[in-house]
Amino acid sequence: MARVIAVANQKGGVGKTTTAINLASSFAACEVNTLLVDCDPQSNASSGLGLVKDPQRINTYHLLVGGANPPDSIQSTSLDQLWLIPSHKNLIGANLELVDADRREFRLRDALMFLQERYQFIVLDCPPALDLLTLNALVAADAVLIPMQAEYFALEGISELLDTVERIRSSFNPQLEIEGVVLTMFDERTNLAQQVTAELKRFFGEKLCTTTIPRNIRLAEAPSHGKPALLYDPRSKGAESYIRLAKEIIARQLPVETVVEVPPPESVGADVETSYVELQATEVANAVAVDQDLSPVGPVEVAIAVSEVRDGKVQEIAPAKEMDRSA
Ligand code: ATP
Ligand code: MG
Repeated sequence: MARVIAVANQKGGVGKTTTAINLASSFAACEVNTLLVDCDPQSNASSGLGLVKDPQRINTYHLLVGGANPPDSIQSTSLDQLWLIPSHKNLIGANLELVDADRREFRLRDALMFLQERYQFIVLDCPPALDLLTLNALVAADAVLIPMQAEYFALEGISELLDTVERIRSSFNPQLEIEGVVLTMFDERTNLAQQVTAELKRFFGEKLCTTTIPRNIRLAEAPSHGKPALLYDPRSKGAESYIRLAKEIIARQLPVETVVEVPPPESVGADVETSYVELQATEVANAVAVDQDLSPVGPVEVAIAVSEVRDGKVQEIAPAKEMDRSA
């Protein structure tokens, strides 16, 4: 069964769509079947993946309002393992048309039920509002991923989103989790970013993703070429950071004893043991097995490997080395 992740924040322009496109693409590049559902009438996720506007094509509106057959709405993309359910600007009407409808909050959930078994991840791109569309996404989701900018007022507005999550848990979807909070357009060099990060860490604890997404022009350019960053410029910092985020989220789905934490390269040499640092010193996708409290589990062997994106796939370019943490 797919893990359904809603990318939501009612604040506009925080990087929801950029995150939805590039996270879904990175899952696909890690060779897991992934479906991206565009739940926003702005349809930025659809055009960002190169789909030209076509009102005739079955889209999210038809799924929510028209009772379309879900498999008929699926489009392929330039990545082998990524599919898309596009949106259209007429989706805006769903907010009104569904007001008196039966199971109005469950429309998306009911539609995705038919598709759950085909994918490992389903990513939902939400509009910048806590409207019926976002509500449908949160009712359909297993977890919500919240993109945020490290700004002084970052926490303002988040309480409203967290209240909504709480209401959805008590009324419609008791299983809804917070997948994480991911900092977007991040500039780690500024004091403000450091201060805000420290505050968010206190507030969200381990829910604050280890991976941050830097401000990177390639991420802003890629949608105008109809491509995810990992196809537009696979070596860009933006593409790399979303692959790291995908790996961080995939790792959380693994059974506890094999959870893999990927520390950011700059933490090398900080709090890690010497034997580990030596192995880590090269530029590798490092891994260390940790338990739920993020303490290393040992003795345990973890594989480390150098990887890069080639032909839209994350490929190992150096053989995985087995490492014994007990050594
Ligand atoms: P909306 O609320 O309107 O749906 P959004 O939250 O989906 O917006 P995006 O559309 O992803 O936000 O991003 C807003 C703008 O910022 C876009 O022009 C996008 O290209 C740019 N952007 C997003 N993330 C980054 C980044 N990490 N580096 C540079 N530019 C970025
Ligand atoms: Mg958007």
